[in-house]
Amino acid sequence: NAADNTIDSWVKGVCRYCGTGCGVMVGVSNGKVVTVKGDPNNHNQGILCLKGALLAPVIYAKERVTKPLIRKNGTLVEASWDEALDLAASKFKEALDSTGPDSVAYYGSGQALTEETYLASKIFKAGLKSNNVEGNPRLCMASAVGGYVSTFGKDEPMGSYQDLDAATCFFIIGSNTSECHPVLFRRIAARKQNDKNVKIIVCDPRRTNTSRIADLHMNMKPGSDLAILNSMAYVIVHEELDDYRFHNKYVNFMTNDKQKVDFEAYKAFLQDYKPEDVEPLCGVPAAQIREAALTFAQSTATTSLWCMGINQRIRGVWANNLIHNLHLITGKIGKPGSTPLSLTGQPNACGGVRDTGGLSHLLPAGRVIAKKEHRNQLEMQWGLPQDSLNPKPGLHTMALFNAMNEGKVKTLLTLCTNPAQSLPNIKKYEEGLKKAFLVSIEAFSDAISMQYADVVFPPAFWVERRGVYGCTERRYALVEKAIDPPGECRPSVNILVELAKRIGVDPNLIPYENSDDVWEEWRKVSAMTPYNFAGITRERLIKESGILWPCPTEDHPGTTIRYVRGEDPNIPEDYPDKYHFYGKPDGRAIVWMRPQKAAAEPAGGEFPFTLTTGRVIDHWHTATMTGKVPEIARSFPHAYVEVNTKDASRMGINHGDKVKVITRRGDMLFDARVGDVCEPGLVFVPWFDPELVVNELTIDAIDPGSKQPEFKICACRVEKA
Ligand code: SF4
Repeated sequence: NAADNTIDSWVKGVCRYCGTGCGVMVGVSNGKVVTVKGDPNNHNQGILCLKGALLAPVIYAKERVTKPLIRKNGTLVEASWDEALDLAASKFKEALDSTGPDSVAYYGSGQALTEETYLASKIFKAGLKSNNVEGNPRLCMASAVGGYVSTFGKDEPMGSYQDLDAATCFFIIGSNTSECHPVLFRRIAARKQNDKNVKIIVCDPRRTNTSRIADLHMNMKPGSDLAILNSMAYVIVHEELDDYRFHNKYVNFMTNDKQKVDFEAYKAFLQDYKPEDVEPLCGVPAAQIREAALTFAQSTATTSLWCMGINQRIRGVWANNLIHNLHLITGKIGKPGSTPLSLTGQPNACGGVRDTGGLSHLLPAGRVIAKKEHRNQLEMQWGLPQDSLNPKPGLHTMALFNAMNEGKVKTLLTLCTNPAQSLPNIKKYEEGLKKAFLVSIEAFSDAISMQYADVVFPPAFWVERRGVYGCTERRYALVEKAIDPPGECRPSVNILVELAKRIGVDPNLIPYENSDDVWEEWRKVSAMTPYNFAGITRERLIKESGILWPCPTEDHPGTTIRYVRGEDPNIPEDYPDKYHFYGKPDGRAIVWMRPQKAAAEPAGGEFPFTLTTGRVIDHWHTATMTGKVPEIARSFPHAYVEVNTKDASRMGINHGDKVKVITRRGDMLFDARVGDVCEPGLVFVPWFDPELVVNELTIDAIDPGSKQPEFKICACRVEKA
């Protein structure tokens, strides 16, 4: 890192990696980014984790693509912008003319700018009339979206990071916060260090660094989350620790098949989840489930945090609902420190893909394609004839890649994502990646997906262009342009506009010179909805380090607590009640009666182990960026398999031995890490390694509601090689 006195200017931005969305200051010297430090005025108060602090070298990686590429005789070769744009446009036109809008698709990313996702979604949905608009947030956050919408009627959390400073109980389930959201974890750990009344409950099948600071670690068996959450509700209700006045006024109880019932029926449903009865299934002692429930309900303020361990499940939406249930029956919601707060994987899965309508069933700002009134609102705002938007939702991610296998989706545009490493059961989808004409806006030549690309557009990367990132807490913050992009790289907004024009999209629909123009329109599009952030102007974003929506006017400070009168600008001041869950027709949130459901492929028979996958602290996703940082590459050169000591000793496996992990989809060799992180019967492999792509082994079963794959559980066999 450079000393401050060698820096010509410090430019404000947001970290490129996880959903914590830390504010950064980018140090520029002689036109180069030489260092990165935390923004003291953003929520992270100047703190960064190692990944964020080591962002600078990624920009200058030798693998940067700096000229357009097209595939000739099987090899990607340099081309002019005109040649590459014309070729890509011709392939889109060919598919559109021969088989119609359903044969083209866009697959984006929670790493793209908000403006980029809004624009890509508009080009495809309004310009090409294709709703095949998806992105990698389908793989990580779709179940959280489904959970929020089905419980509260609107997506995105009601609380904020400020709740972390007021909570006296943290209930962390399915999240290794210490490695995946390190700066938030630091804030939680500091709370515990400074206040002896703060309790931390962790529910996770692995003994992670997060669980090591917990007062109680419920070492659950994989796939028992629904039973544990219902069992905690059982204890709360039967110990009469529920807040009857709250749930009687603000909650409806609903069966799984959407029948409205009363509280007594809910109590009867919970009878199947006595802690003693679920103990064998969950592997968690009944006394621990009781302790967790009592701690949750008796604390002065409880915040729940969860991430992929809950979302990447065959019933991830249900598990989300059951976390919300705990808050709704105890009334621990909408007060400082009391909130359910899902942790987002990527920085802009929330602020970009979810908010702007970057999924195949969505339109911008919480609208859905299936609703005529929502389509008509967008048609009016976008200057389109009434009823001209395609009313049929597009293909969700796994259906999209299946359709490519079948030759039904012929041309795909990807932006800033690496599906050839990140999709589950990836071997199955190689055929489609080869068959379709793949146009990629991609910064790095060594991303595995580049092996399938037919045209590559080199984008301006991170602080080489200006735009907005969101994060877990509904915060929008600006990434300023700090340096010029190298070679012939262009901002993705300009690439998208130029490509769309050449395909034949009406230029009046996309009259943008830059991302500022897109933001102005997106701000106005949000204004008629409860997402309203019309008050978040570019000028404010330049001055302030992030603002939380809703934020309807330029003098509004932003909203830290939704659905509460006096806090949420969507609720009139004279509204008669304190809470108003305005996403639901009667303003009441829903407590859902969701039963336990086993994993799609539980361990047993020939495959007696459970394989689970996840992230490690230093690497980000498929390591196309973190793999370029020497310090990180040295500390985590390759994926490995964690095996429990007892299993290892039974099979004669020593630390460092080569171990074969075999699933119904294939096998792969990893170095063994023997220890107590996994319980007997469970093995863990991180998924960052492009040379050991563990997604060749994972299963592509999906949650029927959210369509999110169950990355977290599949059956496997483990053998010493
Ligand atoms: Fe970046 Fe996440 Fe680390 Fe913050 S915690 S610096 S957002 S990787």
